[in-house]
Amino acid sequence: MHQHRKTSLKIASPDAHPEVFYSIQGEGKNLGQPSIFVRTSLCNLHCIWCDTDYTWNWKGARFAHVRDAEPGYEKYDIKEVVAELSVEEVAALVRQYPCRNVVLTGGEPMMQQEGLLQLMNELGEEYWFEIETNGTIVPDPEFDARINQYNASPKLANSNNPKKLREKPRAYRFFARSPKAVFKFVIAEPQDLEEVLALAERYAIPPEKIYLMPEGTSGASLEEKQKWLVEVCKKHGFHFTSRLHILIYGNKRGV
Ligand code: SF4
Repeated sequence: MHQHRKTSLKIASPDAHPEVFYSIQGEGKNLGQPSIFVRTSLCNLHCIWCDTDYTWNWKGARFAHVRDAEPGYEKYDIKEVVAELSVEEVAALVRQYPCRNVVLTGGEPMMQQEGLLQLMNELGEEYWFEIETNGTIVPDPEFDARINQYNASPKLANSNNPKKLREKPRAYRFFARSPKAVFKFVIAEPQDLEEVLALAERYAIPPEKIYLMPEGTSGASLEEKQKWLVEVCKKHGFHFTSRLHILIYGNKRGV
């Protein structure tokens, strides 16, 4: 009766299996590192090109998505794509893999800080925790203490989110100052780069914390942009990152 109840976690479950899977980090600072991915549901943004829209684009949502025009595309039934699991259940899924690097991703995982903090405590000190966030939410101090690395990926105008929603100055400043944070920006065209340069200046983001990644869901489309982007990185002192998953697996999820 007096048992302390733990928070449950909403985990993305697009094929009736919770998305906790063992793969390699395909982007950014730890590119190539074997990692266990825990994909949470829920997002506070609604990027028009989001490739994990099953974490938020549910029936009744009024947000636009590029796939809306696709024949047969329907917004998701929340009951079919979200699994509500206990912290212990998620920890057990993580422990089945021979790896100690966990990537908390989404959706926007920072929307479930309480549950994720419990998960990190449950898994213990020997695990390394990396979190992929859209950078709009300031972490609670307790949560921050447990995280080893933030991969903040602020969204630009091309995401179709209103500026007020996507650009949160307090949060951007937090990540710009945190020694644990790096920033990753997806660049499709020169206009995106202009925005990144303006953000870097406005929030004093050191160039060595910035990773630029070409937009693209095929090897050919990545190839087109990467030479240009490498030159941009050389000029500004940014890092270049490719998208290993696209190069290895193509546009496939859960790998
Ligand atoms: S912030 Fe990420 S998960 Fe959320 S809508 Fe944008 S791309 Fe999708």
